[in-house]
Amino acid sequence: MILKIDRKNTNVKDLQNIKNGIENILLNEKIKFSCDVLDDYVNYKLDSFIGDKVKKEILQISRKIIFVQNKSSREYNKYDLEIVLDNGLKIGNGNFTFIAGPCSVESEEQIINIALFLKSVGVDILRGGAYKPRTSPYDFQGIGKDGILLLEKAKKISGLPIVTELMSLDQLEYFDNVDIIQVGARNMQNFELLRELGKIKKPILLKRGFSSTYKEVILSSEYILSGGNNNVILCERGIRTFENSVRNTFDVTAIPYLKEHTNLPVIADPSHSAGLSKYVPAISKAAVASGSDGIMIEVHNNPSEALSDGEQALDFEKYSLLKKELDNILNVMS
Ligand code: PEP
Ligand code: MN
Repeated sequence: MILKIDRKNTNVKDLQNIKNGIENILLNEKIKFSCDVLDDYVNYKLDSFIGDKVKKEILQISRKIIFVQNKSSREYNKYDLEIVLDNGLKIGNGNFTFIAGPCSVESEEQIINIALFLKSVGVDILRGGAYKPRTSPYDFQGIGKDGILLLEKAKKISGLPIVTELMSLDQLEYFDNVDIIQVGARNMQNFELLRELGKIKKPILLKRGFSSTYKEVILSSEYILSGGNNNVILCERGIRTFENSVRNTFDVTAIPYLKEHTNLPVIADPSHSAGLSKYVPAISKAAVASGSDGIMIEVHNNPSEALSDGEQALDFEKYSLLKKELDNILNVMS
């Protein structure tokens, strides 16, 4: 935990009194700390968390004291988080990651065909939903654990790591060979699920809920991080606004904001934002230019026959073209 004193408009004498007060309480409570005096703040890094009673006591000293608990906050982390997958692929900390694949895993032929194409154009990670959160119970629900087995097969053949969505904890036993577990927008505030994912070490791709604030997505990631799982990737996938001409509104501001306020990799999902494949290239370019650490795009070998989200999926030709354009933007930015 970090305790900060806001130095702005605090004179030297008041500041010394506040510091003395804090240090007395911490010493009494036998809490170890270190102190850094910065331009705007005095930062106390505490070795442990303090309870509500002690917090209250400290707050009585001055209103200029702020508590920082978030493990991903910049107060804790000067450097960006770098996640390393089993195959050595690095995510975050200046590495850009291309994730692509169909909305849903449909058949062996489909997923292997797509995986081999994506590998051939330089994609890093294969996505594909096995368990699908669908608005209507009458729509295609995904093929469940068979889908995960097919993803594993595609991983073996293509060499691409895989990411797929977990909807409930009883599915976790099938995720042993999955490289990244996705938590979908609809489950961003399923705190029980997040807490359990904090107990494992596998990287978690946490999608922003479509009506969630930046603070809420950050706090959801803290449920995972505070449990001991340090590997979280955030994903902006569009939010619901008053605009209803498109599926969602891509919130490009989320990318610099989340990167400023956390050390976590932040990726973009332009497919679920746009809802229509024709808008995906423009949104993708905006996301890359805004500094995202990666991009997840839905790609299908035959979008018009896809069992879910076909209207927003790019075919191979369109994805190849976009991938080249995004590589060019990345080159210019580097
Ligand atoms: C998905 O990635 O297939 C998906 C269902 O996304 P979201 O949770 O963002 O709707
Ligand atoms: Mn989808």
